[in-house]
Formats: sequence, C-alpha cells, structure tokens
Amino acid sequence: MKKIIKKADFKFSFVYVLFFSSSIVMLIVAVIFTFFIKNIEQERIDSIQNHLLVAAQRASTYLTVEELDLFHTAEDMERPEWEEIRAKLQNFAEETAVLYVYYWRYDGGDYIQYIIDNDEDEEYMVHPELFFSLDSDEISGEAALKIAAGESWVTELGEYTESWDGLLTAVVPVFNPDGTVYCGAGVDISDEVFISMRNYMRIMEFSLFCLLFVSVLTGFFGMRLYNKKAIQSENDSMSKSRFLSNMSHEMRTPMNAIIGMTTIGKSTHDMSRKDYCFKKIETASQHLLGVINDVLDLSKIEANKFELSYVDFEFEKMIHCVINIISFKVDEMNQSLTVYIDKDIPQKLVGDDQRLAQVITNLLSNAVKFTPKNGSVRLDAKLIGEKNGEYTIKITVTDTGIGISKENQAALFDSFQQADSGTTRVFGGTGLGLAITKSIVEMMGGNIEIESEVGKGSVFSFAFKAKCPIEKASALSEDGKVDAVESKSDNLDIDGIFSGCKIILAEDVEINREIAIALLKDTGVDIDCAVNGAQAVEMFKSNADYYDLILMDVQMPVMDGYEATRSIRAASHSKSKTIPIIAMTANVFAEDVEKCLNAGMNGHIGKPIDVAKLFYTLRKFLKKKT
Ligand code: ADP
Repeated sequence: MKKIIKKADFKFSFVYVLFFSSSIVMLIVAVIFTFFIKNIEQERIDSIQNHLLVAAQRASTYLTVEELDLFHTAEDMERPEWEEIRAKLQNFAEETAVLYVYYWRYDGGDYIQYIIDNDEDEEYMVHPELFFSLDSDEISGEAALKIAAGESWVTELGEYTESWDGLLTAVVPVFNPDGTVYCGAGVDISDEVFISMRNYMRIMEFSLFCLLFVSVLTGFFGMRLYNKKAIQSENDSMSKSRFLSNMSHEMRTPMNAIIGMTTIGKSTHDMSRKDYCFKKIETASQHLLGVINDVLDLSKIEANKFELSYVDFEFEKMIHCVINIISFKVDEMNQSLTVYIDKDIPQKLVGDDQRLAQVITNLLSNAVKFTPKNGSVRLDAKLIGEKNGEYTIKITVTDTGIGISKENQAALFDSFQQADSGTTRVFGGTGLGLAITKSIVEMMGGNIEIESEVGKGSVFSFAFKAKCPIEKASALSEDGKVDAVESKSDNLDIDGIFSGCKIILAEDVEINREIAIALLKDTGVDIDCAVNGAQAVEMFKSNADYYDLILMDVQMPVMDGYEATRSIRAASHSKSKTIPIIAMTANVFAEDVEKCLNAGMNGHIGKPIDVAKLFYTLRKFLKKKT
C-alpha cells in the first residue's frame, strides 16, 4: 500500500507542478492582455480628448472678439450677422466632426451667458434672461473657472459617467487683443463612441478573467479527478494482481487434490482407500467448479449481462437445501446453527431461487468460515412488509466470528477485495463472493448491509421483494421447455428406468461420450453416438422411427448442435417435430439456454453434468418401453 501511494504521489506532484506552472503562465498572459487592453483604452481616450481640444482650439480663433462682441442682448439676435455667423458655425461643426460649437462669457460670479452656437436650441442663445447658473452644474463651473484663468478644459474621461447629458466637451479661452480672456469657445461631441469603446474593453477584461477563472477551476478539478483516478487505477491493478495470485492459489489447491488423489487412487488396490480418494476428488472438483462459476458470474456482472430467471419456488425448501449444503461444514467446525423462518412468509414465491440460494449460501459459508470452532451462526428470514401482493423478506446472517474492522467494511463488496490479506492466507477464498452477492441482491431490488465489530462477530442482512405465484394446474410446462421444478438428488433409483428406449448422443469429445454412456448405463437406455451434428442429423433421418430422444452437444465440428437441431426439425419425417432434443453443453448462461430453446431443443443440461438433473430431464421425455 505504501508503494502504491508513493507512486500515485509522484504522479500527483507531477500533475500538481504542471497545473501550477500553467496557472502562473495563464495569469501572466492575463496580466499582459489586461495591460494591452488598458493601453488601447488610454490611447483612445487621448485621441478623443485631443480631437476635442483641437476642435475647441480652432473654434477659439474661428470667430473674432469683434464678431462675438456684437451680441449681448436678445435684440442682437435680429442683426443680419447673427444668422451669417450661425451658418459659419454649422459649417465649422461639420468640418471638425463635432456636434455643437458655442461661445459663452463668464461674468466672474455665478453665471455664464451663451453668445452664439450652431444649434437651434433657444436655451443656449444670447439672452439676458437665460444666463446659465453655474450652481446648477458643477462641471460647467469648473470649466468656467479654468477659462477665467485662461486655461483650457476637457471632459475627464477616466472618471466619465454616462449621466452628463451624453456629451464630451472641450472649452478653450478666446483672448482679447490685450491678452485678457474675453470668453470661452466650446465644442461637444456625443459620448456614444466612447461609451461603446469602454464597454467593449470592459467586456474583454471580464471575459479574460472569466476564462482565466474557469481554466484554473477546471484545471484544479481535473487535477483532483486525475489524481483520484490514478490512485484508483493503481489500487485496482494491485487488487487485480492480488486477485490473480489468490485465484491461482484457489484453483491450484483443488487441482492438487484432484491430481494427488487420482495418483493415490490409481496406485492402491484397497477399495476403501480408492473410495476415500474418489470422495476427496469429488469435493475438490466441486470446490473448483464453485470458483469457476464465481469468476464467470463476476465477468457477466462486469459485462452487464447478468440476469435473473424468475420461477415459482418453495421458500422454505430453498432454505433447507442451503442448510443441507452448509450443515456439513457447521458440524465439522462444531458450531451451532440456528435457523428461524417467519411463518408469515408465503410458502410459494416467484423469484430466482438459485441466485437467492447462492446469496444465502455465500453469507452462511462466510459466517461459518470466519467463525472459530464452537462458535454460533444464525439465519433469520422475516417478512417485513407486504404491498399489493408483493412481499418484502429480510434475510439476516449473524455470526460470533472474527468480525471486520470499520475501515475494511467499506471495500468489502468491491470485486477482488478481501478484508485483509492476512485473512486470505489463513482462510483462503477469492474475494468474489460478496461482490457477486451484492450485485444479485441489488438486482432483486434490495441492498446488502453489514454490522460488524472485530472479535465480536458480523451481521450481514438484505431484503428482497417477491410475489406469490399464480396457481398452475401442473408443474410441467406445456411447451416442454425447462421448467421451474429443480432436480432432486434424493431419487436416484435408476435401474432399467429407460429400458427399450433408444437415444442418439451427439458429442464430439470422447471422454464426454464415455461419461454420458457410463452415467446412463444402469438406466437400460440404448445409446448410438454421433461425433458431430451432421452425423446426428444423418442418423435421425435414416432411422427416425427408431429413436426416442437426442442428447445434443452444442459446440461440435462440421455442424454445431443448433444447426443440427434446426435441420432435424425441418426434416419431412412426422417425428422430426416431436422427437425430444436435449442440449448437453458447457454453454450454461441464460442466453445459451435460450438459444438452445430457440433452435428447437426441448431442454438443457449443463456440463459438468448434474446427474440428478440429467435423470430428471430424461424422465420428462422418456418412458420405459419393455
Ligand atoms: P472470500 O470469502 O472468497 O474471500 P467474499 O467476497 O465472500 O470472498 O468475502 C470477502 C472478504 O470479506 C473475506 O475474505 C473476509 O475477509 C470478509 N468476510 C466476509 N464475511 C465475513 C464474516 N462473516 N466474518 C468476517 N469476515 C468476513
């Protein structure tokens, strides 16, 4: 673990340095851009102010003091010069690209008097009653004082606000020949261009900082995510390689027992010793099959192909089957096993009984495995709710075993995870059981929970929902497809049960043919073998009346079992539609079973062959003939 963190830390520091250096570069770029934006803005301000001052400067010499001195009263506006000069000013405004050009006198006190301008507005014409009060306008007052002092004044654009009549102004003094100030010459332009330029600059600045902010933020979160993923994938790959090494151990151990016991069995002539070896081989093979099934289940779960198959089943019977499986180990450990089944739970339910049994078996076998000798294990099944005919049943498995620490509980349900590697060394196991259990429980609409304390034991519980089945007349399905009734291993009295029946066994692998023939030997059935699908079809077509059933492997050379079945079903003989064809194959997933049925087969037996299921299925289709 230390190693993992160190590696991840190194990657993290690298990404960290990368992130901060790129952030700094981005910050520098942003500052440089802002500086440029400010510069452009200032240049624009300077050019606007310059334009205004130059225009006002020209206005200050455009009319002479004598011309301006002609107008003092409202009557002076009647003079012919009045209109002439106004026409001149209108030309001037056009030439210099200003909105207004005007002249005013300052009385040295609180008023200014407009003399003449290019505008029609009465308010700004020479008129004693229309003296403009400087109190009403702070800016004009400031300008008037400047003019009185013989200086120019221009609108301060740095602090400019849109409220000031929407005009930008420059005023320049008009001097008497003796150098004293006679009046002020002013020009105005609209502030629209300036305002839109300034808004544009502000938007650019704002966008730049938003961009910077978003980039830094996404960079930061990206870095966090990357770091998390890096640690996760490091941990995942460590878990997987630990899993592979556990798996290798879990597979090699029973293989060792199988190979070892086979060698011992072969070399001894003592029958009881041979029996002992066979028993050990059987146990080890079953364990190995369990490991393989777990791996297959998990790979289906990870590929999202894991599905439940709903059938009618008897709840209590299912629990008894589970207890039968587990009780051997309980006895071996000298533990006490208490089972409580709520009487309110309906006898018959609809659900995936095999997967439910798998979940309960896994929890119980863990409880037994992780509880020392003489400890106790308890299984509770309680009805906790019923709504609209749907029952919620809670299963709890309690043990007085070694328990699991809080920190180890978190990852317990992840695939390839075990509470700690020390546990694996002592108890073995693949670490897949709880991951599969969790997925199955979730598919059943429940949630698995754990309460545990180190040294005191564990409580695993989950709830699932199930309905009662709709009563049927017969347990056998009419279409002859695989039905809900599970094979029973307790009725194996098979001597001569199929005497006189003839079957075709289509199987390409010799040892599989040998096993099937040996298993069926005592039933009295006659078996003809075909080594591929084409041969099976040929045998059926040439002697269809003779045969009562076909056991069909799926994966075979020349012609596979699906095609062979379709070909038999399509044949013209009257028996071609009715002869039972049973798949006997190592393709055991739900979709494989479905594929067999879709090809026209009547049933499915998985490999390794479950003997009880083989007889149960054959009994459905074969009747003793002699
Ligand atoms: P396996 O038992 O094959 O290792 P599981 O997924 O069933 O895989 O269990 C994962 C781990 O959870 C076990 O290795 C063990 O450390 C811990 N565990 C499960 N059940 C119990 C229990 N009842 N008491 C203590 N530890 C448990």
